[in-house]
Amino acid sequence: MTISTQNILELDTPTLEEITRYYRDHISPDLVRLLRLTGFGALEMSAEGCWVVDQNGRRYLDFSGGYGVFSLGHRHPKVVAAVKDQLDKIALSSRVFLNPLQAKLAHQLAKVCPEGLEYSFFSNSGTEAIEASLKMARLATGRRAFVSTHGSYHGKTMGSLSVSGREKYKEPFEPLIKPFQAVPFGDLEALDAALTEDVAAFLLEPIQGEGGIHVAADEYLRGVRDLCTQRGVLWIADEVQCGLCRSGRWFAVDWAGVSPDIMTLAKSLGGGVMPIGATVFNSQAGKAYKGRPLLHTSTFGGNPLACRAALASLEVMENENLAENACLSGQVLKEGLKRLATSYPDLVRDVRGRGLMLGMEFHEDKYGGSLIFEMVKRDVIAVYTLNQPRVIRFEPPLNVGREEIETALNALQESLAETRRRLGKSE
Ligand SMILES: *Cc1c(COP(=O)(O)O)cnc(C)c1O
Repeated sequence: MTISTQNILELDTPTLEEITRYYRDHISPDLVRLLRLTGFGALEMSAEGCWVVDQNGRRYLDFSGGYGVFSLGHRHPKVVAAVKDQLDKIALSSRVFLNPLQAKLAHQLAKVCPEGLEYSFFSNSGTEAIEASLKMARLATGRRAFVSTHGSYHGKTMGSLSVSGREKYKEPFEPLIKPFQAVPFGDLEALDAALTEDVAAFLLEPIQGEGGIHVAADEYLRGVRDLCTQRGVLWIADEVQCGLCRSGRWFAVDWAGVSPDIMTLAKSLGGGVMPIGATVFNSQAGKAYKGRPLLHTSTFGGNPLACRAALASLEVMENENLAENACLSGQVLKEGLKRLATSYPDLVRDVRGRGLMLGMEFHEDKYGGSLIFEMVKRDVIAVYTLNQPRVIRFEPPLNVGREEIETALNALQESLAETRRRLGKSE
């Protein structure tokens, strides 16, 4: 096959037909069908703030926010400038010399993370942050088993998948890492029974994202802390999606005033510009790992570009009061969603969430599917949660404006009306 410059240049102005064909022939025919169904054939060409622009210049309001990646919006100017500057210095690490940006980032994370979480291991994604936490927990405790919650999502590499709570994604890959047990989310008694002598760690998302936006009660989080301490089990709080200001505090565990032993971060850590994952841990969790730092490594983990983006992001989160913004805007959005829920009780079962991590649950999956479709038609992006398709999530940038919230709510109202007209029982 010959690759002419002509072909490569054509990628700059692709047509929908061409891209669909490349997807079908070289990525996955089913994926392109799925994406064309939800986004009906828009190509993402550029993005800024809360907006994504397609090949025809049509602008979409991004209220799914990359499942939590775009807490600062798309291409926040401070993060883009930091990364551009870093490109002219050193991009990837030699891995031989000391890496000042990695050290600074670990220092900054220790400042904002809950008490005791003072050490960081850097990787490139959420699932890698979980993998590191699992190995660390086995190493620190000398125990083998893991416990997590029903509906939980911790990533799709073998280890993370093993401790996730949805059979559909696990079953084709058995045997996975064992022993493993899932307990009901929010149920301390069940956890009490599950934390036997062989358990190394309990994994919990303080706000379940893919499970359908379930907020752990503060009492439950405090109970989890106590139980894990009593049993010598490490508590891994997976804040890959809910962490870093989205819940209205720096971290969702801050609402309960508790510190996990290990906390995993990723999605928004790179400011929506660079991919980066972090496993932040206390000295008890890291006691064996800290002395053997080459047991678990990553070539690209903690690279200067990603760390520079993360440092800029933490600065923006602090200077632009994104946690407080998430609280205030979250309240406005949630009230709007609740108002609509009251008008459409035949479609909507519940509205819940914290800060700007909100979900709307429908009585049936088909309503959720229709809503997403109708919303995109009206230029607003919203998506359902992976493990619970009857829940649509709203995770806009934390600096979203009032006007944009109104725009999204108006589109939602029209979409609900259209869904009722097409699929609903008569009023
Ligand atoms: C997205 C997510 C992950 C996995 O992150 P990837 O970067 O996709 O590997 C893990 N845990 C939670 C809670 C997530 O939302």
